[in-house]
Amino acid sequence: MAIAVEEIIDLRSDTVTRPDAGMRKAMAEAEVGDDVYQEDPTVKELEKRAAKLLDKEAALFFPSGTMANQAAVLTHTTPGEEVILGADSHIFYYEVAGLAKLSGVQARILPDEEGCPEPEDIREAIRGDNIHFPVTGLLCLENTHNRSGGLPVAKNRLRACCEVAREKGIPVHLDGARIFNASLALDVPPAELVKDCDSIMFCLSKGLGAPMGSLLTGSKDFIERARKNRKLLGGGLRQVGVIAAAGLVALENREELQKDHQLAVKLAEIIRDFPDEDLGLANQATNFVMLEYTGSKGAGWLEQKLAEVGVLCNKLHDSKLRLLTHRDLEEKHIDQFAERLDNIFSRGGE
Ligand SMILES: *Cc1c(COP(=O)(O)O)cnc(C)c1O
Repeated sequence: MAIAVEEIIDLRSDTVTRPDAGMRKAMAEAEVGDDVYQEDPTVKELEKRAAKLLDKEAALFFPSGTMANQAAVLTHTTPGEEVILGADSHIFYYEVAGLAKLSGVQARILPDEEGCPEPEDIREAIRGDNIHFPVTGLLCLENTHNRSGGLPVAKNRLRACCEVAREKGIPVHLDGARIFNASLALDVPPAELVKDCDSIMFCLSKGLGAPMGSLLTGSKDFIERARKNRKLLGGGLRQVGVIAAAGLVALENREELQKDHQLAVKLAEIIRDFPDEDLGLANQATNFVMLEYTGSKGAGWLEQKLAEVGVLCNKLHDSKLRLLTHRDLEEKHIDQFAERLDNIFSRGGE
């Protein structure tokens, strides 16, 4: 029996969120200018706001998180250097080998299944003086950590990693695409969480709901050099205040991410308590829920079955599906998810 799909429940990512009425109004009314000439007042306001929120000297608006991360690496490093980062980090795993292609640096990857490399592993990976060795130019960390299932990395753990780098004079870049999720989950103000990092990227376009945009923050000098690299990458934009205006609204709404976390807890409970023995909860943290399906047909099969009943999610491993909550979802959608999941299995999974 086919189920009539009334409404798609999109759990693939928090990037699917659409700008709401408040954002669209702010966009329509935004004051703008040419931002390459640094004449867009709304962009300037957003950059000022971002720098203040993270207690850094300056900030720079980017079209995407990937571009901001890559510009950060370009700005921190010299070609031929080595960058230490997690094997599951976004910068290493999901940015099209930008490290090699754009910055001409070598990646030194460390285990980070729990969201962050071990400080001792970082210490060992930092190169000493030897004619054969490259120079270690940068350490990159990530919070929340995407591939581990949205795990927030504790302040002390971040600090321990940063201290190892600082002892050797190596800068630290934090991929904080979801730093406000981390901040809420850990109950630590964002500025305190990123205190020991030299540069931080965060996204407006994920759970915060803006249509696009990321900010890179750091010292004045770093940001001025990053501005040139942004131009190099084609990220110098013109009347982009129309977008920055949505970003300002997004930042105002950042505490609402807590609702996404609450929905994730509810979603996780449904999965954990589900009667089929092949299906269980692997992990829930912040707005990420990892579902484990060990049935012989594999997680790809379940992903497909869910899609047929209007539930979209992403397969992460052979046995794992990733489900993300976000501001375009309400509690009723989570209830509908439970009904649709029930339906798949009560029909014998056929
Ligand atoms: C989404 C994401 C990025 C990149 O952002 P885009 O705007 O999609 O390029 C970087 N790091 C992490 C951890 C992310 O989740």
